Amino acid sequence: MKPLTLLNYARDQWVQGAGNLVELPSAVTGEVVASTGSSGLDFKAMLDHARNVGGPALRKLTFHERAWMLKTLANAIMARKEELYELSYETGATRTDGWIDIEGGAGTLFSFSSKGRRELPNSRVLIDGQMEQLSRGGTFVGQHVYTPLQGVAVHINAFNFPVWGMLEKLGPTLLAGVPAIVKPASATAWLAEAAFRIMIEADVLPQGALQFIAGSTGDLLDHLTLQDVVSFTGSAATAMKLQSHPVIARESVRFIAERDSLNASVLGPDAGPGTPEFDLFVKEVVREMTVKAGQKCTAIRRAMAPAEHLDAVQQAIADRLAKVKIGNPREEGVTMGALASQDQRDSVRAAVAELSRSARIVAGDPDRSPVNGGAFLEPILLRSDDPWGSPAIHDVEPFGPVSTIMPYKDLDDAVALANRGMGSLALSLFTFDTRVAEDFVLGAGAYHGRMMILDRTSAKESTGHGSPLPVLVHGGPGRAGGGEEMGGIRGVTHYMQRTALQGAPEMLSKVVKQWLPGADKPTGNTHPFRLRISELDIGYTLKTASRTVTLEDVEHFAHFTGDTFYAHMDEEAAKASPIFEGRVAHGYLILSFAAGLFVEPAPGPVLANTGLENLRFQTPLYPGDSMRVELTVKSKSVRDEERGEVRWAVAIFNQKDEVVATYDLLTMNRP
Ligand code: NDP
Repeated sequence: MKPLTLLNYARDQWVQGAGNLVELPSAVTGEVVASTGSSGLDFKAMLDHARNVGGPALRKLTFHERAWMLKTLANAIMARKEELYELSYETGATRTDGWIDIEGGAGTLFSFSSKGRRELPNSRVLIDGQMEQLSRGGTFVGQHVYTPLQGVAVHINAFNFPVWGMLEKLGPTLLAGVPAIVKPASATAWLAEAAFRIMIEADVLPQGALQFIAGSTGDLLDHLTLQDVVSFTGSAATAMKLQSHPVIARESVRFIAERDSLNASVLGPDAGPGTPEFDLFVKEVVREMTVKAGQKCTAIRRAMAPAEHLDAVQQAIADRLAKVKIGNPREEGVTMGALASQDQRDSVRAAVAELSRSARIVAGDPDRSPVNGGAFLEPILLRSDDPWGSPAIHDVEPFGPVSTIMPYKDLDDAVALANRGMGSLALSLFTFDTRVAEDFVLGAGAYHGRMMILDRTSAKESTGHGSPLPVLVHGGPGRAGGGEEMGGIRGVTHYMQRTALQGAPEMLSKVVKQWLPGADKPTGNTHPFRLRISELDIGYTLKTASRTVTLEDVEHFAHFTGDTFYAHMDEEAAKASPIFEGRVAHGYLILSFAAGLFVEPAPGPVLANTGLENLRFQTPLYPGDSMRVELTVKSKSVRDEERGEVRWAVAIFNQKDEVVATYDLLTMNRP
């Protein structure tokens, strides 16, 4: 393969770094794959470009428009994935490793795109939680909202997942409406550059939305401000250095860190040899040691088993490791490729040497090079019989195919050992005993960002110990960096500012584009079901006539549906309850009558009722009472040319104007 010259993408131009470029060797052959450098870039001008051009353009778009953009980017990556697989082999990755990185990366963008369209409004302000009533008269209320930060997201990525690592940060950032400058790790930057180029060539991003640094970040951090975010993945040492940068400290620049993690996997006390959970545990430990040659921030570094089962665990893991085929990842049948670089192999060997002072190697030889030329290393299994007397096994992270097995005495001991990692990204527990799981979650939850409890029922469909998922949070306390990424829409809010708005309901309603209780409820001559989404104003209200609910209605409904609960049928029993003064109308009868009062039956823009949310029955309705309904357009969202969603605030009142019930009604409508 002809060596590539990696380019920077600065201020919407591809530019080569000035001066001498750094040569990047293939992990497999050691030959130069690419050269890279960022000298000569004007980093301050890049930040200004993002702030002045990219940010305003992104903030003009709604969440849905940005979500569609993510889908286009993901499709572009998928359409050209084979180009990326070719480059991925040179990082030492097998096809399976590459799949996690490349298709996993595109999948993450797809996931954020779909969540963005389903869970975020088709507008630009995100509402957080319910309105808070702040005054007795209801004219002064509070509402939390999120708006996009007006700075730049600086993404500093790790070498192990050049594509996924870039996209899992870009998904939430772009969805939030914030431009990004991406700095990949040098060791595998040719793959990150290729994926980045595909996104630029997809031609869907506004100018200034994305920039790329193929080298060091120069003086970039010196020019950060309070509106910027640094999202970092890498070593604890670099994280600490960056976090204590004077500008980051002085300006309170948001800093998200994913760093070292001594993740644990625990075989439950109930899961001895012969149980499905024992086999699953062994399989998972070996998988985590060998996928991506163990270079995963979430990989299992510490495997714990009841003392009486440790020999069996050791034997089973060693047997499985013996079947691992190490080699050039392009070759058929190879199950484990190379480490990312010779430097990385050196640092793993150094870590193993340190660990082997207090634990013994029971499988693999760190000094052997199973394949000549590249950065290959055998999987190494260590064993410590005195886990409390061997601090290194909980402190030293060999970022390669290395794991240490250790015994525990009882469940409390296992919990304490797991927590001895001082904060981790992922923990897995293999048990079929729900009490073991409950105790473990309570004892260890505070120390781990994600916990997977695996048993025979979930194993087949499980995504595994080591897979961060776009819909779940990725991050962990303490040593793991204290950061949190993804987690669905939670990850988007990391790039936004939460603000508590206060004011009159009508004022805030107009700002947040959602009707809030207490805001105006204008009425008109046209039934709202006759209006398309584009013609419906937020707040527009239908006030229905009232109807009386009779005892015959209640009895008819009871026998018709089979709901003959005593509170509807037995006057004495109902009276004896602490809630009712006598027989009451069914809640579902009230809802049905409400629909009967507000529905406009002829075919029209309303296509279907898709659900109810936040239903509360507040005042009982007794036979002889009457009810009326107010149906208010709360918010609306166009999904595509054919469909959209309208959320209606429904309030049901009795003849004394007391609120009987409130809920949100969801309908699918024509736009
Ligand atoms: P580093 O911390 O050296 O590098 C991580 C990133 O930071 C790279 O992009 C690197 O760029 C960049 N970087 C390094 N120094 C600076 C600086 N002064 N200013 C700005 N950017 C800088 O980590 P490694 O590459 O050594 O990665 C290995 C370690 O990272 C592993 O041992 C593991 O502990 C951790 N890791 C954690 C992960 C997680 O998700 N928690 C994932 C992967 C790794 P460059 O490559 O150009 O030096």
